[in-house]
Amino acid sequence: MPHSERVSQIHDSVLDAIGNTPLVRLRRLFHGHDVVAKLEFMNPGGSIKDRMVRHVLRHMPPGVERVVESSSGNTGAALAMAAAVGGLRCDVTVPEQTSVEKIRRMEAYGAVVHRGMSGVPEAHGRSYLSMAERIAREHGAFHVDQYRSDLNRQAHYVDTAPELWAQLDGRIDYFVCGIGSGGTISGIGRFLKERDPRIVVIGVEPLHSAYRAAVAGIAASKDGDSGTFSTVIEGVGKRKPCGTFDAAVVDDVIQVPDDMAVDYCHRLAREEGILAGGSSGCVAAGIAQLLPKLAGRIVTIFPDSGVNYLSKYF
Ligand code: PMP
Repeated sequence: MPHSERVSQIHDSVLDAIGNTPLVRLRRLFHGHDVVAKLEFMNPGGSIKDRMVRHVLRHMPPGVERVVESSSGNTGAALAMAAAVGGLRCDVTVPEQTSVEKIRRMEAYGAVVHRGMSGVPEAHGRSYLSMAERIAREHGAFHVDQYRSDLNRQAHYVDTAPELWAQLDGRIDYFVCGIGSGGTISGIGRFLKERDPRIVVIGVEPLHSAYRAAVAGIAASKDGDSGTFSTVIEGVGKRKPCGTFDAAVVDDVIQVPDDMAVDYCHRLAREEGILAGGSSGCVAAGIAQLLPKLAGRIVTIFPDSGVNYLSKYF
């Protein structure tokens, strides 16, 4: 649907208002370069996860009355929003460090939030991951399971990527993207490479996260666990690559120290007027590192808003 038609249309539900997010050139931060960011925090649930959840729920078996996911934030909010529209019961299991604002946000949509733990093995009964699996098993709830589901990267292949391609008329030289579950970079990366194999796809993650080694073909350790990884940047970085990640469409992964990511969050707000989350600061800091080596248009994604982290980063 052409842009003008879409924005002037009355949607039947807020889920139809997902997508068609704006592109902004980062003129001040990357003066003299062509760096374009897609503002995914403009989605109604506040993040890029609205697209993933909408796509996954379209593939839900008929008759489901209850949905569940383990999430500390954006996926939980997107699922709670979609469940409200569909009249479904929504359970979200969260790790202990989840902020009160995020919990309240999910509850505001009517979701039931269960507090679990993150620093324990998955087999532990209080692990927030295993709690979601248990709710799915015991109550017949549909489990979104973003870290393993192929539907996660498919959402970006069928929705985010074609939209980006159309908005830019295919004029993309580099796609630089943060990696959490890997759904965004894998889905968009595949689409872009199929259209134009010359497009270079570069992932960005915090220091000591596992994707750099996975793409370089180096096992971080025998079981692929990167060991002591920890970060204050929410949404990006993993101790082990997730099942949804597709290394075949990623040319390189670079790593960014947390303090640089936070610094770029501040700079995005003050120099570009873009109040974006920590993972956007991380990818912007990654672009700053790459810039001297790249020639052409760099396109990136800003997944969520700084409003989620006002007391944490700002
Ligand atoms: N940034 C934020 C704020 C996120 O919540 C996520 C999702 N974990 C990402 C980046 C990374 O996206 P993906 O999971 O598709 O790799």
